[in-house]
Amino acid sequence: MISIMRFNTLVLFITLLLSIPVSHALPQHSPVPGGVAIVDLKYDGDSRPEVSYRGNPVMVHQGESGWQAIVGIPLSASPGQAKIKVRTNPRNYSIKFVINDKQYAEQRLTIKNKRMVNPTAEDLKRIRKEVKIIRKAFKNWNDSFAIPAGFAQPTKGIRSSSFGLRRFFNDQPRRPHSGMDIAAPEGQAVIAPADGKVITIGDYFFNGRTVFIDHGQGLVSMFCHLSDIDVVEGQEVSVGETVAKVGMTGRVTGPHLHWTVSLNNSRVDPELFMQATE
Ligand SMILES: [Zn+2]
Repeated sequence: MISIMRFNTLVLFITLLLSIPVSHALPQHSPVPGGVAIVDLKYDGDSRPEVSYRGNPVMVHQGESGWQAIVGIPLSASPGQAKIKVRTNPRNYSIKFVINDKQYAEQRLTIKNKRMVNPTAEDLKRIRKEVKIIRKAFKNWNDSFAIPAGFAQPTKGIRSSSFGLRRFFNDQPRRPHSGMDIAAPEGQAVIAPADGKVITIGDYFFNGRTVFIDHGQGLVSMFCHLSDIDVVEGQEVSVGETVAKVGMTGRVTGPHLHWTVSLNNSRVDPELFMQATE
């Protein structure tokens, strides 16, 4: 039997717990190519400011000391000063921030299927078509979602620090690795890392079976090399819901999940969202 005193303390504790607002977790501030910059907008008005970077709309968040922009920085960005444009009512202005240098390591992979390294003319035709679809999916913008409270790991397994690696396939230089690879067996469930809506699904030359999920405000997840897809275009998904199965379709050396996170059309390190802090 618990005393009145202890019961009151318990009630107080529960009341305190319930009164904590649901926090929108922000990704880690890491202003490097392939990272995320959290920039104070020096604006604390009620209406949501419109922010753009390199012509793409940018995620914003109303913090305790005013609005902030959460800016994805592409891997191709040069270190040095960068600029975002801010539109508030009635003021339009720009804010500078600094992109720090980051050297990513090299990775050399051997691909047995030579077509995956040097595609045929017909393959190239298909690839060009797919690149357009993929680029369009990353440009998706939907501001009806709240910023996710961090990302859940989309499948069980070791999260390799493979983001940003400068890649060589069969000794030929190719684009840097713009996602995170999670080693996992074929058929293992892939879940939605946050609430969202399926933008599109497809089966692409390099990426294999693929699902795109829009998490709102320019934050998009892409899952590749899947064996099966359990969702359809336009479907709303909740965090933790199974969307697909791990596979080895497309250009792979073995079964794994490739997860790209794109913010304002910039591919950024998913790890920054795994250690999300307010
Ligand atoms: Zn990958």
